[in-house]
Amino acid sequence: MTDILEFTFTAEQQQLREQAREVAHKGVEKHGRFNDSWINGFSKEFAQTMAENGWIGMGWPKEHGGQERPPIERVIVAEEMIAAGAPIAAMWFADRQMGPTVITYGTDDQKAEYLPKMLTGETTWCIGMSEPDSGSDLASLSTSAERDGNIFRINGQKIWTSFGDVADYCYLICRTNSEGPPHRGISEIIVPMNLPGIEVRPITDMTLNRHFCEVYFNNVEVPVENLVGQEGAAFKQTMKQLEHERGGIDRLVSNKALYDEAKKCANLSDPLNRQEISKIETGYHIGRLLVYRETLQQAPSGFSAATKCFCTEHEWNVAQFVNRILGPKALLDNQVTKGLAYAPAYTIMGGTSNVMRNILGERVLGLDREPRG
Ligand SMILES: Cc1cc2nc3c(=O)[nH]c(=O)nc-3n(C[C@H](O)[C@H](O)[C@H](O)COP(=O)(O)OP(=O)(O)OC[C@H]3O[C@@H](n4cnc5c(N)ncnc54)[C@H](O)[C@@H]3O)c2cc1C
Repeated sequence: MTDILEFTFTAEQQQLREQAREVAHKGVEKHGRFNDSWINGFSKEFAQTMAENGWIGMGWPKEHGGQERPPIERVIVAEEMIAAGAPIAAMWFADRQMGPTVITYGTDDQKAEYLPKMLTGETTWCIGMSEPDSGSDLASLSTSAERDGNIFRINGQKIWTSFGDVADYCYLICRTNSEGPPHRGISEIIVPMNLPGIEVRPITDMTLNRHFCEVYFNNVEVPVENLVGQEGAAFKQTMKQLEHERGGIDRLVSNKALYDEAKKCANLSDPLNRQEISKIETGYHIGRLLVYRETLQQAPSGFSAATKCFCTEHEWNVAQFVNRILGPKALLDNQVTKGLAYAPAYTIMGGTSNVMRNILGERVLGLDREPRG
């Protein structure tokens, strides 16, 4: 066999990585270092720095203000930002998810209205998906949007809505019809967060982060033009969005800065440490290959569930290593303590590992469907 798979980057891509690393380190110096910085490191100023460097919408089509750069370049920039702990949260959902969704399913008016301010890092978006009684089983959601003339009237409650208190818009997944099977009748609606009837209650988690919110909708009136895609048929859109969300580099390197720090303190002649370091370094390599495969759209449909599962369980292993190496010292450093306490979130957000394994089994491996309770 003579063909060799080349995994090297071009000189330009290496240069981009260097440039991103420098900007990330300056960002950390100025704003602080954040664990899982794409969700915990909120800075509007740094979002604008990302925009000024052309690092929002890198792969979006030029006709929508993007640069049509190869998707791998976005991964390079994102990896440097997140691995360093730079605060990219204010632009992340827009860049990763809402922009591409509006480009795919939005109307021309929606594209003209929302994309430009995403690209300049001016607007922050939150995702209103989970509800108190509806997390993994999204199709069971009950927040309703009732059509009344040229408006939708929205009622219900969302929970775990990251950035609900600072977002300009909520990308709301809601029910516009309750007849038929539960996954039918789901729609996606853009809801400006300053409308009357919206009440946001931030939740402080045990790491003292405050990105989580409960969001209450009480007769909130939204113009019908804010519907994205087809009314009542958004379940597939949402699944596509989640697939996009699950296979990214943000699921692999969120606590890399903690690992780098702990590795410096590890006794490298201790056989256990050596084994664990080898295991973690191998995990980073495998995880990166899985992410590249997703990025290049070479993974089978539904495989992002496996990528997410592998990468976030790797992040959990990293947290265990950091905990063991730093021991009581971890408690003396606020960032480390927070990072360790936060670690259980990796395998929950974006879909739990149990659910990822179900998806993998049913959609990729073709196993029988899980028995329904
Ligand atoms: C850091 C973080 C940020 C988040 N940000 C957002 C956000 O911005 N917007 C948003 O809408 N949501 C957000 N979430 C919520 C997240 O999407 C949900 O927590 C997740 O989907 C799981 O839902 P749940 O918490 O209701 O758990 P449940 O669905 O109630 O699951 C509880 C347990 O049951 C297991 N389980 C459930 N169903 C099955 C099954 N079929 N087979 C086997 N096991 C099963 C799960 O694995 C889990 O262990 C965030 C969560 C975290 C941790």
